[in-house]
Amino acid sequence: MRFCGVLIICLWSFQVTWSQLLVDLARDFETSLLNNRIPDTTRFLPEYDFIIVGAGSAGCVMANRLSEISSVSVLLLEAGDQETFISDVPLTAALTQMTRYNWGYKAEPTEHACQGLKGGVCNWPKGRGVGGTSLINFMLYTRGHRRDYDEWAAANNSGWSYDELLPYFRKSERIGIPELYKSPYHGRNGQLDVQYTDYRSQLLKAFLKSGREMGYEITDPNGEHLIGFARSQATIRNGRRCSTSKAFIQPVVHRKNIHISMKSWVTRLIIDPITKTATGVKFVKQRKRYTVRARKEVILSAGTIASPQLLMLSGIGPAEHLREHNITVRQDLPVGYNLQDHITLNGLVFVVNDSTVNDARLLNPSDIFRYIFAGQGPYTIPGGAEAFAFVRTPSSKFAKDYPDMELVLGAGSLSGDRFGTMRNLLGITDEFYDYMFGDLQSKETFGLGSSVTATQKSGQNIVA
Ligand SMILES: Cc1cc2nc3c(=O)[nH]c(=O)nc-3n(C[C@H](O)[C@H](O)[C@H](O)COP(=O)(O)OP(=O)(O)OC[C@H]3O[C@@H](n4cnc5c(N)ncnc54)[C@H](O)[C@@H]3O)c2cc1C
Repeated sequence: MRFCGVLIICLWSFQVTWSQLLVDLARDFETSLLNNRIPDTTRFLPEYDFIIVGAGSAGCVMANRLSEISSVSVLLLEAGDQETFISDVPLTAALTQMTRYNWGYKAEPTEHACQGLKGGVCNWPKGRGVGGTSLINFMLYTRGHRRDYDEWAAANNSGWSYDELLPYFRKSERIGIPELYKSPYHGRNGQLDVQYTDYRSQLLKAFLKSGREMGYEITDPNGEHLIGFARSQATIRNGRRCSTSKAFIQPVVHRKNIHISMKSWVTRLIIDPITKTATGVKFVKQRKRYTVRARKEVILSAGTIASPQLLMLSGIGPAEHLREHNITVRQDLPVGYNLQDHITLNGLVFVVNDSTVNDARLLNPSDIFRYIFAGQGPYTIPGGAEAFAFVRTPSSKFAKDYPDMELVLGAGSLSGDRFGTMRNLLGITDEFYDYMFGDLQSKETFGLGSSVTATQKSGQNIVA
């Protein structure tokens, strides 16, 4: 583990060039040292009860829960590999996005967004590997507003109201925040660790105080009210990322009724043309093609981009578009047409007369050793976000308890990104960076990220 810590710091310093090589080295080193290699199936049964496509946040939970039933068989197929300690460090989440754990999608150019970014396009990071996007995300544990779930239930999705889902949130969660142990909204015996980091800056205190001064309460964002200011609750375990692989897959790899297959690229779902149900999948592993059938269900959990893509490749999607690509239409449906993205501004930078978290400070050996040996200190801040606030803007037409904007307190800011990690992640050009932040590089600064969480369009609520 000590070696691991040194390696991650080197990786941070040398950046992307060496990242792929280091990810491979890290995986081999870690799996041989800790013997935590996920068994990778190469011999498949012709049929399983359930086939799960994609071992991301959702797929890992599904695999864990279904394989609790010892009489059913489960196949979990994942295009990527298993995680390593490279993705464990909460503060360097952005760095992980430069490795092969990110599919590296880019949006199409648009006149209305991403103008300061390379080629005028936004990066769309998406996780690849057992754990999926939970390997590269910022780990903030926020369930959202109860009304969003209730609206799903009202739209004919029975069982999806907040009250019906709460027992499952509690079942999954192992809350490590003593003041919430008795809260009816949290669980203490689940697999997914939700904790605060030990690190608390002066900025955090000031941020929460400013919230109070504006009339907001300091809340548990996963409790009674979402609106308010809060310290970041994060999916971390003793200062390190708790991915869904760690929470839900590592503990069940010994089960006899689950086969996990990595580097397995699903290319198509097999759809019965008469019943129009999915009866199996086709996938490629190590250049070999496989067809496996499902007795009960195929569960498609390949993420926001790959799930609709796989549906379309399997003949379910907008008929005209499928015909353009010579795909036989099984069902004409507007698949992919409800895609929504956060509208985010990350560039707000504030100069302060106190020490903040920036690349230069992080090379400080005491911070490095504190992280490696104790899982403490600034390296444990989830994605650099110490706290956040859900607020209702003055022009909002939503109900009083419903936020339309999220503000995220960064323990540092873009101007402290001397090694260029965040710049690369967001795709900011050097010219734009120098123009905006160049003069601030030597100053102590913190950042505020703002995201639109809900907008109203033609009387319809759109929740991001
Ligand atoms: C940069 C970033 C920061 C984020 N921060 C937060 C945060 O702080 N808090 C929060 O709650 N959410 C956050 N999110 C969002 C959250 O991580 C995702 O919503 C969630 O992980 C999605 O889960 P999923 O199971 O739908 O998909 P994923 O976790 O993306 O899983 C999909 C899986 O399917 C696999 N796959 C894809 N295609 C195929 C194929 N053809 N064959 C086989 N396997 C395939 C992928 O490799 C992947 O492992 C963040 C997201 C990003 C990108």
